[in-house]
Amino acid sequence: MADAPANIRAHQAEQVLELVWDESTTDRLRYRYLRSMCPCASCRDEWTGERILDPKSIRPDLKLEGMENVGAYAVRFGWNDGHSSGLFTWENLRQLAADQPM
Ligand SMILES: [Zn+2]
Repeated sequence: MADAPANIRAHQAEQVLELVWDESTTDRLRYRYLRSMCPCASCRDEWTGERILDPKSIRPDLKLEGMENVGAYAVRFGWNDGHSSGLFTWENLRQLAADQPM
């Protein structure tokens, strides 16, 4: 299981979430990408893993409105489109950062 990041910073103007894992590892995830990869049941089919959310429907002025730690293993993001049911584990976030298109 991945350890929690030492620090999480939301850069609202850049729409980038910065995750500081340790002194040598920092990941930067774009809000749109993060929002489009939301793993909740209304954004992604639980059985097939197929994406239900159309990335084109994501508002361009996407902002993070809240972050809530869930136990020691995950975080829940609240977006300004009213969506806040996506639970991302630290493991998920590290994988998303590795897979993020340039
Ligand atoms: Zn979702």
